[in-house]
Amino acid sequence: FDQLDGHIWMDGQFVRWADAKIHVLTHGLHYASGVFEGERAYGGEIFKLTEHTERLHESARILGFTIPYSVAQIDDACRELLKMQGFRDAYVRPIAWRGSEQMGVSAQHNTIHCAIAIWQWPSYFDPAQKLKGIRLDMAEYRRPDPKTAPSRSKAAGLYMICTISKHAAEAKGYADALMLDWRGQVAEATGANVFFVKDGKIHTPKADCFLDGITRRTVIGLAKDRGLEVIERAIQPEELEGFEQCFLTGTAAEVTPVSEIGQYRFEVGEIAKTLMLDYNNAVQPKHAIAAE
Ligand code: PMP
Repeated sequence: FDQLDGHIWMDGQFVRWADAKIHVLTHGLHYASGVFEGERAYGGEIFKLTEHTERLHESARILGFTIPYSVAQIDDACRELLKMQGFRDAYVRPIAWRGSEQMGVSAQHNTIHCAIAIWQWPSYFDPAQKLKGIRLDMAEYRRPDPKTAPSRSKAAGLYMICTISKHAAEAKGYADALMLDWRGQVAEATGANVFFVKDGKIHTPKADCFLDGITRRTVIGLAKDRGLEVIERAIQPEELEGFEQCFLTGTAAEVTPVSEIGQYRFEVGEIAKTLMLDYNNAVQPKHAIAAE
């Protein structure tokens, strides 16, 4: 990724992609004192941009630091950078982290940095696979108790167990892994939320120890618009056997049907396919739809 071209917005300036560098003694690197966002632009507009930027600010607040750029400044920088990069459809990655002045666990006075990079990331999962449904393994690591980790923050540190779990799944030929939470209940995938369908009703774990995804909430709204019942509740892993459909939601993953989790099989059914299409419509800029 350091080979890509164009510009990166960094601490208020647009710098050339190759020049967006940080020092090796950055606190964010050593102690994971960083927070980030993942956003997608569709047709030249970033979907739910302000909601993402507000979440970035909130993630930093939870980690005890304040990003020195307002939500409006970051929103403007994202929009301007998207235009500079010349993309209509793209992935947007804002990040904020503690700098390098003080080394050690404490870094009260380190400068807070902020950067935004935008690149083309057409589909998180292989598109042909997506319609067939992706295969998930069960992860060994569990999502921590909110008393153990700041689970409402999109904090870099929380991704350590996600990367380990995703790598382990990939090594066995799976696309991703399903993680349980500390109680042993179904939680989410390593970078996306999970939904199930049974008897025409949608079931999804209560987001009480993992990210309540912006896509998750959008898809719940779309399902309700279709008159579908969405039940947010504790889901036990033994219940996987009884579910007919399964899909993941996330900014990068969008709506991705799942065909398999460990020993359990799911069909890519009507509800998963309908919500996939509804989401594809919902993310398009309103003026683009009006012009059709
Ligand atoms: N859970 C995790 C661990 C994630 O990384 C993401 C992606 N940000 C999500 C859920 C989905 O969140 P969103 O829909 O806001 O992208």
